[in-house]
Amino acid sequence: MTTDPISGDCQCGAVRFRIGTLGELSICHCRMCQKAIGSFDAPLVTAPELTWTRGASKLFQSSNKVKRGFCAECGTPLTYDYSSDPEIAIGALDHPELSTPIVQVCVADKLPFVDGLADLPAHANGVDSDEVRFMATIKTYQHPDTDTDVWPPANAQTD
Ligand SMILES: [Zn+2]
Repeated sequence: MTTDPISGDCQCGAVRFRIGTLGELSICHCRMCQKAIGSFDAPLVTAPELTWTRGASKLFQSSNKVKRGFCAECGTPLTYDYSSDPEIAIGALDHPELSTPIVQVCVADKLPFVDGLADLPAHANGVDSDEVRFMATIKTYQHPDTDTDVWPPANAQTD
């Protein structure tokens, strides 16, 4: 179940997009996706009818077959462009919680600790007093998870 429209953006909001429907939801473990996303793996969804509604991603040709899209303003990884329907980084969606991956690919490159991540000790929010004090000082400059009429938004960094 998804909301309509399906939208998302980079962290600063200079690049926003909409897609028609959620395509295949996957996690890719290949070394190139690890590097491009800057994480252990790349959660991606094929994005039929991708439309840039503010700005557009800048492309880096990461191989003879694939271009990687990212925001030229803030660096957020956004796309994996291989075919006519690029894939979008699930974390860039306004509602990533609605996009549960259904398949893993390139598992031969999976980092050896990934399968154990769910077993790591978890600190609940608000329990650690140092974390609570730190979080209380955070003023976010991240674009909100919604379309806005103007960019940069009112909460943009001014200091
Ligand atoms: Zn950005």
